[in-house]
Amino acid sequence: MELLDGRKIRNKKIEELKNKVSKLDKKLGLVVIQVGNDEASNVYVKQKEKLALDIGYNFIYKKFSEDISNKKIIEYIKDLNKDDNINGIIVQLPLSKSLDTNLIINMIDPSKDVDGLTYINSGKLIQNSNALIPCTPKGIIDLLKEYNIEIEGKNVVIIGRSILVGKPLFNLFINNNATVTLCHSKSKDITYYTRNADIVVVAVGKKYFLKKDMIKENAIIIDVGINRENNKLYGDVDFDNVKDITSYITPVPGGVGPMTVYELMNNVYIAYKNKNNNML
Ligand code: NAP
Repeated sequence: MELLDGRKIRNKKIEELKNKVSKLDKKLGLVVIQVGNDEASNVYVKQKEKLALDIGYNFIYKKFSEDISNKKIIEYIKDLNKDDNINGIIVQLPLSKSLDTNLIINMIDPSKDVDGLTYINSGKLIQNSNALIPCTPKGIIDLLKEYNIEIEGKNVVIIGRSILVGKPLFNLFINNNATVTLCHSKSKDITYYTRNADIVVVAVGKKYFLKKDMIKENAIIIDVGINRENNKLYGDVDFDNVKDITSYITPVPGGVGPMTVYELMNNVYIAYKNKNNNML
C-alpha cells in the first residue's frame, strides 16, 4: 500500500504555480462570495484566502448577510464580470434555501468561473473542450497522474453524483479513456460494481462507507468524504479496514482536500491565460 499524499503534491504544485504567477506583469484577483456565517464555510474561505495571498493574488472576501436577495448578489456578480482586475469568481456553497443557486452561479462570466460550475463549463467538460474544471475532480486526476497511475483502460467506479464532484469526475475519467460507472443512493448492490473496479472514488458524505469486502485486491482508493465528528475529520472510507489490500489510497485529511484548494488557485491562473489567448 502506498499513500497518495495530497499535501506533498499540493506543496510542489503551489511552488510551480507561484513561479509562473511571479512572472506575470499584473496581480490576478480572486473573489469569494459567501452568504451567512456557516462555520465550515468560514474555515474553507479562510484557507482559500491564506493560499491566494501566499501565491500573490489579490483576494476579495465578500460576505453577505443571510437575508440578501438573489437580485443583489447578481448585481454584485455582474459588476465583477466587468472588472478587468478580477480573474476568478466563486460562490461558496451551499447557499441558503431562499436563494437560487443555479441562477446565481450561472450569472458568473464562464471565463471567470474558477469553480467550473456554470452550464458553459459543464458543457465544455462533456465535450472535452478547454473547460474550467471543478477543483475536486481535477485534483483527483492530477493526484493520480503525479503518481504515474495509468487511467486509460481502467475500470473506475465513482460513488456519488453531485455536480461538484461525481458528475464532473465521471466526464474527466471518460476524457482520460477510463471505463466509468457512477453509483448513487438509488443504485442496487454497489459492491457488485466496486469489487470489479481498479479505481474506486467515494464521494458520499458518510463516515466509513467503503469497507474491505467491497473492493478487490490492489484497488486504488480515493476518499473524497469529509465527515466531522467531535472536532475530528473522517473520510468515507474505513481507512484502517481497507488499507492493507489496496495498492494506493488517499488519507483523510491530507489526500483530496489539499489538491482541491490548489486546483482553485491554478484555475485563476488558467482563467487569466485563457482570456489572454481569447479562448473563452
Ligand atoms: P452530496 O452533494 O451530498 O452528494 C452525495 C452523493 O452521495 C449523492 O449523489 C448521493 O446520492 C450519494 N449517496 C448518499 N448516500 C448514499 C448511499 N447510501 N449509497 C450510495 N450513494 C449515496 O455531496 P458532495 O458535495 O458530492 O460531497 C461528498 C462528500 O465529499 C462530503 O463528505 C463532502 O464534504 C466531501 N467533499 C470533499 C471535498 C474535498 O475537497 N475533499 C470537496 C467536495 C466535497 P443521490 O444523488 O441519489 O442523493
